[in-house]
Amino acid sequence: MTSVHTTSEVLPRILVVEDDPIARAILSASLKKDGYQVDVASNGQAAIDKYSEDFFPVIITDWLMPEMDGIELCRMIRSMNIDRYIYIIFVTSQDSREDVIKGLDAGADDYIIKPIHHSELRARIKSACRILDLETKLKNSLAKSHELAIHDPLTGAFNRVYMDQQLRLELIRCERYHRPLSVIMCDLDHFKAVNDTHGHLAGDEVLKSCVESIMSSLRKGIDWVARYGGEEFVVVLPETGQAVIDALAERLRLKIASTPVDVNGFEINVTASFGAATLVPSFTESRRTIEQILKVADSCLYQAKDNGRNQAVSGILE
Ligand code: GH3
Ligand code: MG
Ligand code: MG
Ligand code: MG
Repeated sequence: MTSVHTTSEVLPRILVVEDDPIARAILSASLKKDGYQVDVASNGQAAIDKYSEDFFPVIITDWLMPEMDGIELCRMIRSMNIDRYIYIIFVTSQDSREDVIKGLDAGADDYIIKPIHHSELRARIKSACRILDLETKLKNSLAKSHELAIHDPLTGAFNRVYMDQQLRLELIRCERYHRPLSVIMCDLDHFKAVNDTHGHLAGDEVLKSCVESIMSSLRKGIDWVARYGGEEFVVVLPETGQAVIDALAERLRLKIASTPVDVNGFEINVTASFGAATLVPSFTESRRTIEQILKVADSCLYQAKDNGRNQAVSGILE
């Protein structure tokens, strides 16, 4: 006999689809007794309707039902664009090899032969739970891999891969809606000397601290920062014009210059130089590329370095 779930497990919600009210009541009562949250529908269409405002990872469906039968329900569910898996168990009568093949072909994962034996039902649902659990683990691991793939592990800023993709999208959006787009390139001043004086690990701490300073000055969920190279960062500010960008670059400059980094009792002071570029899309000009925007930011940064560092210079593209 299959064991009942322990109370600590998160049990999937089950949708019972059955046109016969008595069979429906018996099945849902036995599932509830095992601790599952159960909802019911009297045919395939009613089941589909439930998904417009709710989600059930497991469906146990009867075969023959008015309006929409179990086969059609399986097909509909599989054709729906849902990013979570729905495990479908269909209930069929004995001596129905053809039904079983047809049901599995339509997208069902498993079947139970009537009359339903409670211990078999439990075992089948446990197997559903294992599959759904695997799906959750796989999704979590993919999400983690994706996070790693787009971030710089040292500073937590986005990396070049993300920057190249996302900046292209920001550019398309800004040109489509005729909104300005700004980038600020930031390069730490005399950073080699920090490494030479305090060691590479201390240099790493400085890099982390600078990114924290930058991030804390940005609009959450709108602006973002990427590590462009060793001690160079690119801040991207969608829908932001030159007046704002000048003020922000100055704020970032002040923040970094006034935030000493404490490494093993030593206070390390650093400054950074900034080159900002704003693209103002025009109706007449041909499309700009991200390389052109970065080039303007880079030459402004070069100028800021040339002028003596610890300052910001900005340029504009129309
Ligand atoms: P400037 O003011 O002209 O920018 O001078 P700089 O010394 O900052 O520039 P330079 O390009 O000569 O040196 C950059 C240094 O950054 C050299 C390199 O070793 C260091 N660097 C690059 N990546 C890392 C890193 O991940 N950690 C540490 N600690 N240092 C890094
Ligand atoms: Mg029926
Ligand atoms: Mg540099
Ligand atoms: Mg530098």
